[in-house]
Amino acid sequence: MNPEPYLRLSGIRKEFGAFTALQGVNLDIHKGEFICFLGPSGCGKTTLLRIIAGLEVQSAGTITQAGRDISLLPPAGRDYGIVFQSYALFPNLSVADNVAYGLVNRRQPRAQIRERVTELVKLVGLPGSEAKYPSQLSGGQQQRIALARALATAPGLLLLDEPLSALDALERVRLRQEIRSLQRKLGVTTIMVTHDQEEALSVADRIVVMKHGAIEQVGTPMDVYRDPSSLFVADFVGRINALPARLEGPGRVRIGEQSFECRHEGDINGSGGHEVKIYLRPEDVLARPIAAGDSNVFDAEIDKIEFMGSFCLVRVKSAALGEHRLTVYLSLNFLAEQQLEVGGRLPLRLLPERMRVFQ
Ligand code: ATP
Repeated sequence: MNPEPYLRLSGIRKEFGAFTALQGVNLDIHKGEFICFLGPSGCGKTTLLRIIAGLEVQSAGTITQAGRDISLLPPAGRDYGIVFQSYALFPNLSVADNVAYGLVNRRQPRAQIRERVTELVKLVGLPGSEAKYPSQLSGGQQQRIALARALATAPGLLLLDEPLSALDALERVRLRQEIRSLQRKLGVTTIMVTHDQEEALSVADRIVVMKHGAIEQVGTPMDVYRDPSSLFVADFVGRINALPARLEGPGRVRIGEQSFECRHEGDINGSGGHEVKIYLRPEDVLARPIAAGDSNVFDAEIDKIEFMGSFCLVRVKSAALGEHRLTVYLSLNFLAEQQLEVGGRLPLRLLPERMRVFQ
């Protein structure tokens, strides 16, 4: 039996005048989960987070947290800490006073507050920074302090609104891992808004993919990546090849001039003649091992090589695929070993069990 969810959103709608930003969102989040709201700009993820925080009032729907109906409570009556994209620290207050903000509001004894602040700045990796001011800190350090401030009252829920998007690439990766391990250590239920799919895949227990104010799919990073429920999710989460094809019958599709085996058991209606789209990740197109008698092998010609560092993004063309180009990942070592460059030819194989068919 599923335990009672820690946070339950039921039928959350939000209208801004004539515009519907959220069209009835239902979602259960369990205690200790790390959830990412992921989606393109304008899909409603920030609005949903702000409604959970009480910073925006829903037009319809209810929210319960730890069994308590919080739907109409003001922010101060709710149990969460929040970190925004822009650091939002008080510039005229020291680190210690910023972190202590929520504790002072709760009228805790001063010695106890000082002790808690020391503990928190240590927790976020900035011990001894209490006397500094926000202007003396880097962006990443300011976000760590914002995190310490959000965690000060040991809230039941941690809300993160694109907390990493103002940071440079290296700091972003470092801080997301730190947030994740801190979250694990504290066990605090966390929701992070992001439009960065790699960020969501790397930290979330479950990803909520949103589109036009509605949830498209909820699942583990692996589910969402390997088994997207729609073309939209497949496109938005990770790199994908989309190939127009024709169904030839059970388990077979024709792409360009060649017939391919396809083991996807989707909800494909009709047997032959149907126009479909085949979706396949670049890593599911293999350059080796290819054995004699393997299905789905075709001869490809390299059209373009893009060096990405640890691997190369290689665009290939083939009569077997008709007009369509395919992106595959090949290592620099493989290309060198096979003496392959633009114009070079190589056999490739589409993994039949990884081909997804969409109508
Ligand atoms: P982004 O990543 O760009 O912030 P988002 O998915 O977080 O996108 P929201 O900020 O939730 O999107 O906004 C969803 C939609 O609601 C957008 O079309 C936005 O213009 C609209 N919207 C948000 N707040 C308001 C407001 N206060 N008044 C009118 N429209 C709003």
